[in-house]
Amino acid sequence: MHIVEPGAADRPAVPERPKPDTSQLIERLHRIQDQQGYLTLDDLDVLGAELILPRAAVYEVATFYHGFRIREAASDPKPVLQVCTSLACHIVGAPERLEVLREAFGGQFEVEGVACLGRCEAAPCGRVRQQVLTDLEPDAVAEVLAAPPPKDRPVIDFDAYLAEGGYHRLQALVRGETDADWVLGVLHEAGLRGLGGAGFPTGRKWTAVRAETGPKLMAVNSDESEPGTFKDRVHLETDPHRVLEGMLIGAITVGAEACYFFLRDEYDHIRRILETEIPKLAALGLKLPRIELRRGAGNYICGEESAMLEALEGKRGLPRQKPPYPSQVGLFDRPTLINNVETLYWIRALLENGPDWFAGFGRNGRKGLRSFSVSGRVAEPGMKVAPAGISLRELIEEHCGGMAPGHTLKAFLPGGASGGILPAYLADQPLDFGTLEEHGGMIGSAAVIVLSDKDDLADAARNLMAFFKHESCGQCTPCRVGTGKALALMHAPSWNAPLLTELGACMTDASICGLGQAAPNVFKSLLRHFPEEVR
Ligand code: SF4
Repeated sequence: MHIVEPGAADRPAVPERPKPDTSQLIERLHRIQDQQGYLTLDDLDVLGAELILPRAAVYEVATFYHGFRIREAASDPKPVLQVCTSLACHIVGAPERLEVLREAFGGQFEVEGVACLGRCEAAPCGRVRQQVLTDLEPDAVAEVLAAPPPKDRPVIDFDAYLAEGGYHRLQALVRGETDADWVLGVLHEAGLRGLGGAGFPTGRKWTAVRAETGPKLMAVNSDESEPGTFKDRVHLETDPHRVLEGMLIGAITVGAEACYFFLRDEYDHIRRILETEIPKLAALGLKLPRIELRRGAGNYICGEESAMLEALEGKRGLPRQKPPYPSQVGLFDRPTLINNVETLYWIRALLENGPDWFAGFGRNGRKGLRSFSVSGRVAEPGMKVAPAGISLRELIEEHCGGMAPGHTLKAFLPGGASGGILPAYLADQPLDFGTLEEHGGMIGSAAVIVLSDKDDLADAARNLMAFFKHESCGQCTPCRVGTGKALALMHAPSWNAPLLTELGACMTDASICGLGQAAPNVFKSLLRHFPEEVR
């Protein structure tokens, strides 16, 4: 029924309440938790009212992310002290360190084990009050707690970057001295591939997004959470403007009006660096796309590009079904260019030096440069920039000072938790996209974890599967249930190979995203290469 009130037509219209930006939900939850150390149900209600979201919608997001702590009501919580329990830390005694620190600091802190903190070269490591612990002896931890927080500055800041010729390529593009076609030509010729793990040709991706019509966006994936991966962290700590220049060149080339930089929340120091350095771009005097720095909240799955888009929209990080691909329907349903930090890191050097320069670095028939995150039983772990296609043996000998004293190479993970566990006799295979698949491995984000004769491979595999079980987003049954079932089967003294193989096939065939599809690599590679370890 339509009721017409007398005189209603003469009254001024009630102004519409502006629609709140619900994509800010995760940021707003962070802000509350930063202040008080936790979130209460009342906090969720207040935030829900402000963003016009029901409690359930706020609650499902707040409880999805491992980084948020929900309390029934206001309390006086202990601060948190975290110890990484992922593989690189696990093999050098993280479980024992965790117990020692619980004993020493349990009265003062909530001491908890967490998934990879991205400091694998300093294993075993931890985190307290937004500071990294690279020595988990109680005395060393006490020293960090007593010291003032460190000043977070990049090695190369804005002024230093400008002084060494930075932002010239960006300026040339904005001023029309070069154009998008030239940029795309260089990328195509150089053969640069996405270095977050998938390896999709960068030139093709940029071309595809550029060809889309309508408003477009860009998203930078800096959520590296694959156990063993820390290269993006090192690039951002040392030379953040090189990444920002690559990002802006990408956005302008494809016609994106804004860039969303999604940073894993464990990298607090990089957030502070970027919060200081990004505003300095105004000094360039160029009309640039808007940049929004967004915090992750502690879930590995948000490194999957479509899960990251969901998180950027303020939702749970549930991977989307593809197609459509993000290049067609991405962030806020717009065509979106998504790149990993390292991919963007190489853009400036490619445009300055040309495609032949980059391609000239390959080894063993491969082309380009890669940043390897090397951890485990080597003498000098760390981020190593080396030719694509270098073998593990060459990487260890030429870049890592050899094996750690007293250790003999037994196995290695070429691509973090997802990339399989390969035997020492494959140490001469080129490390690159497409070279390890026939052996049941993959390079992924080049997170190389080296294991030795002192390591228990079945125990290492259980550590990896426990990680996948913890990080499964739960959206699809083969992954949600399969990771748990696999872990239970892997605890048997003798593994049930036929059953695990059947389970692995189901997970790989029927999971929505790479987590569930690749998790079986853990047990499949042991059954294939190290049957004696699991029988
Ligand atoms: Fe989520 Fe696992 Fe399914 Fe991926 S495979 S969507 S992580 S349940």
